[in-house]
Amino acid sequence: MLKFAYFIEGGHYAHNNGKGEFFMKMSRMYLPTLREVPSDAEVISHQLLLRAGLIRKLVSGVYSYLPLGKRVLAKIERVIREEMDAANSQEVLMSAIQPSELWKESGRWENFGPEMFRLYDRNEREFCLGPTHEEIFTSLVRDELKSYKQLPLSLYQIQTKYRDEKRPRFGVIRAREFIMKDAYTFDRDPDGMKQSYQEMWEAYTKIFDRLHMKYRVVEGDSGAMGGSDSHEFTAMAESGESTVMYAEGCDYAATDEKAECIFELPVQDTEKKELEKVSTPNVGTIEDLENFFQVSADRFAKTLLLTVKGEPIAVMIPGHRELNLIKLLKVVDAAEHEIEMAEEETVKEITGARVGFAGPIGLKKDIPLYIDKRVTEMTNIIVGANESDFHYKNANYGKDFEGTVVDDLILTQEGDICPQDRRLRLKSDRGIEVGNIFQLGTKYSDSLNLTYLDQDGKSKKVWMGSHGIGVSRTMAAIIEQNYDEKGIIWPLVVAPYHILITVVNAKKEDQMQLGEQLYQEYTKLGYEVLFDDRNERAGVKFNDADLIGIPIRINVGRRAEEGIVEFSLRRGGEKEEIPVSEIAQKVKDEFAYQGL
Ligand code: ATP
Ligand code: MG
Repeated sequence: MLKFAYFIEGGHYAHNNGKGEFFMKMSRMYLPTLREVPSDAEVISHQLLLRAGLIRKLVSGVYSYLPLGKRVLAKIERVIREEMDAANSQEVLMSAIQPSELWKESGRWENFGPEMFRLYDRNEREFCLGPTHEEIFTSLVRDELKSYKQLPLSLYQIQTKYRDEKRPRFGVIRAREFIMKDAYTFDRDPDGMKQSYQEMWEAYTKIFDRLHMKYRVVEGDSGAMGGSDSHEFTAMAESGESTVMYAEGCDYAATDEKAECIFELPVQDTEKKELEKVSTPNVGTIEDLENFFQVSADRFAKTLLLTVKGEPIAVMIPGHRELNLIKLLKVVDAAEHEIEMAEEETVKEITGARVGFAGPIGLKKDIPLYIDKRVTEMTNIIVGANESDFHYKNANYGKDFEGTVVDDLILTQEGDICPQDRRLRLKSDRGIEVGNIFQLGTKYSDSLNLTYLDQDGKSKKVWMGSHGIGVSRTMAAIIEQNYDEKGIIWPLVVAPYHILITVVNAKKEDQMQLGEQLYQEYTKLGYEVLFDDRNERAGVKFNDADLIGIPIRINVGRRAEEGIVEFSLRRGGEKEEIPVSEIAQKVKDEFAYQGL
């Protein structure tokens, strides 16, 4: 039975009798379940976390974890710790409060933007509540690192992060306070950094495999972290905010933001015709235009007006495709919060027309125009005329308009050509980003001056990586992958308890007695057992049992006196009446089945 000693957690999660055994009676438990679906909870994990009494909302994007929720978090953290430790990463714990000076050194105090919670101490010194910890770890290591002999180094923490998200939603999936595992690696050179990256990749694979998650590792955008290579670990779920582009037949997978967009344009006219202004009264949308001109949207180019750091720009893409904001941000060197669609007033000022008639020819203001390369390959296209109710026909790049040509400004979509194997077509799937790994290069060691003395006696910059897992988000992602219409179906590895013993009628002494006996016995064997001894109707207890999703269930009912109980598995196993002597084997079988 030592096999299960692995599951024994520190004594603060439940009543501990001092022998490492846990006793938890539901009659004593703080488990406020809800029958109704809370109205502001859109996704299933948010609904079930609230209904099953794992979390409660304090304010928007800020949650309290109740006893069941805390236990699940601890289980997830345990798996993460074991695999991080095995990958030679050492656990530390850093402060959530961070001085602004370090962020000013890295340059991120200015460009992190409104996601950062900022605060002052009594002496007006500026701080933030850490949204991430690159600066703090770099500074910690810089103060001690001397020689190459101290490298490579890998440190991690499991700690609370703060981000004032623009749209906190989906419960703990996009929260403003959340728990993250963040690791930072320090290496002598690019090869070392890549090796550390590989080790983290493998550790993450083990973590998410052990958590029984269905996920994909996808090429990601390195966003606010900076640096070069990055991958996201995305838990597949319909409700997810991430779109994963992938191809069947090769191992290509990338977020739609990152994926290179390759598609065929329709066959174009070889002869460039004369530009012609056409009256198009009230024809403002792409659909209107398709109907008016009787051609499909891939014969138009749309001209989008945006503002970057307050300054207007125009962007042209083929009419049937969407702008990829992340790709544009790289071109204009701005952060996400610094870019917006232009207001109606601005559009009128720049085009001299109502919204819907912007085009590249005759803009009233001289603003930068970025043109997706595909537009330059199209001939005789339809564009807005910068005049209300008018368009141009037969506009041609080079002849009628010019601008800064950019290779790819388009959001990839299903059916596009796979960048890795051009014979294949991309498909898309939705998911929740639960972790990511970044190669930071020397971004932070440059700005914060983190150096070491190499073997050749020279002072060199450290090559870094940063690697996150959203611990609280993972809890929700597991639910998104494991539920039915009645509630959560926890995998054993993260279940708040392994076994739920329910006394069907708490007024019957024989049932209570057998329930109590099994509860003691299985707890002593090292299992985490929850005992539903409440004096409630059986229906209420069974509904709660389904809702909270404990994997293994034993109902002690009317055949208690004969030593017969009802055994079932939450993951859809049939209910079976069995003698108590057979329980042990069935429990073992289920642990084995779930790989434990
Ligand atoms: P997202 O694109 O979802 O905003 P991110 O790229 O900002 O994520 P990182 O800064 O890389 O995320 O953070 C590491 C991990 O922390 C993410 O992979 C995710 O699992 C988790 N995480 C990020 N933001 C939140 C949040 N607001 N609430 C809960 N978990 C989060
Ligand atoms: Mg984010």
